[in-house]
Amino acid sequence: MLSALPLTRLGPFGPRHPLPASGERGKKDTMPAVAGPEIERLIQLLARLPGLGPRSARRAALHLIKKREALMAPLTSALQTASEKIVVCGTCGNIDTQNPCTVCTDPRRDPAVIVVVADVADLWALERASAINARYHVLGGTLSPLDGIGPGDLTIDALVARAHDGAVSEVILALNATVDGQTTAHYITDLLREANVKVTRLAHGVPVGGELDYLDEGTLSAAMRSRTLFD
Ligand code: ZN
Repeated sequence: MLSALPLTRLGPFGPRHPLPASGERGKKDTMPAVAGPEIERLIQLLARLPGLGPRSARRAALHLIKKREALMAPLTSALQTASEKIVVCGTCGNIDTQNPCTVCTDPRRDPAVIVVVADVADLWALERASAINARYHVLGGTLSPLDGIGPGDLTIDALVARAHDGAVSEVILALNATVDGQTTAHYITDLLREANVKVTRLAHGVPVGGELDYLDEGTLSAAMRSRTLFD
């Protein structure tokens, strides 16, 4: 099912979480084949998951085989169902099994606030933290001239259109504190000057539980610049 939101070249997961390629990739496993091609194929596919190398893929495959009824069968079914039902939300670019997505259709969320994130992993992270009860906009990555990623590769146009909707009063740029993240934040801020919305960004500074002595100079000076009233 195709969504109304133009699919970006990078997709809603951004460059950090590329969708699996069709060809065989990953680290070369030097271990000789010890099982039939079907099991070897399973291991090769598992090894392409983030955080799993050939060795842990073998362990995972063996675990699945041992728990064939209790885990492998339901996992197969869950993968199949998810694969068939996943859609990109035509409004915000989130991944879900319904369009518009669960977040966009949640009536308890503040429709006046849009949190802009680079990819779905960031949306999930903010939701895990219960950071804000707002709606989102997934860019599908960040601007990166070095990697040839320009505005047309992201869902920036759709964001600008949403920001011009009279119901929106604030756009929060929740982007990485990296050069690419901040370049993207500046670019979007410029585009939104015409829209009647407040544009804010996440604070840069001392992490919760952080010790000043261990922070780099850039973080310390950003924290000093972003100081706030003690409340
Ligand atoms: Zn949505």
